[in-house]
Amino acid sequence: MRRKIVAGNWKMNTTLNDGLRLAGEVKEDAEKGLPEGVSLIVAPPFTHLTGIREILADSIGLSAQNCATDDSGAFTGEVSAKMIASTGAEYVIIGHSERRLFFRESDKELNKKVKIALANDLTPIFCCGENLHEREKGIYKEVVRNQIELGFTGLNEDDFRKIIIAYEPVWAIGTGKTATPEQAQDMHSFIRDLVKKLYNSDTASTTSILYGGSCKPSNAREIFENSDVDGGLIGGASLNADDFLAIARSF
Ligand code: PEP
Repeated sequence: MRRKIVAGNWKMNTTLNDGLRLAGEVKEDAEKGLPEGVSLIVAPPFTHLTGIREILADSIGLSAQNCATDDSGAFTGEVSAKMIASTGAEYVIIGHSERRLFFRESDKELNKKVKIALANDLTPIFCCGENLHEREKGIYKEVVRNQIELGFTGLNEDDFRKIIIAYEPVWAIGTGKTATPEQAQDMHSFIRDLVKKLYNSDTASTTSILYGGSCKPSNAREIFENSDVDGGLIGGASLNADDFLAIARSF
């Protein structure tokens, strides 16, 4: 059985007080009950991790949105996986399209981040996905295959089994444009097949693959219904506890 996960990527939003309030609302609402087998993760800004760990029940996972390629040293402004782990967070988002695009993060760097996250006992939530131009050119599967092959280079099966993958078509992120359920299922099954080729069918069948891109309460159900979609990475809608929980209850 693979895990069903709904993760909220808060991006660079909320002051500390607003973030603590939002985490409290998520916790309170989650305590009213979730569909069986569904786990929640929240990914606030770095500055909020310690405070939010104290608020969240152990049953809600805590994630950072990025980590450095090294554990420590002269890298002004960076935050390492070791530091993230010391806050009590268990996850880290790696390779979000905004990091790839705005901060020019390369596949090689992302591979380093995946490895350093694992070495610090953090579970990477590894993002992949094509942009609009790549979708329209019909090369989206090649793009995603490359991102996955390069992102996981050198990972043995035991390490790979700790990974969560998020397929996030860049053209659907923050645009209000969602992939159709067919497009999502097609890409998720492609990714699962790829994992099968890179590792084996048992590993592929236990890897959680989340969908991300303008997922909201009104469209989550039709996306989550697909057999290879194991949940969502939610941006905008995760900033509202009611919407975030409504998405989680779409399973
Ligand atoms: C994201 O940034 O991971 C995301 C999916 O954003 P949104 O839900 O706002 O499209």
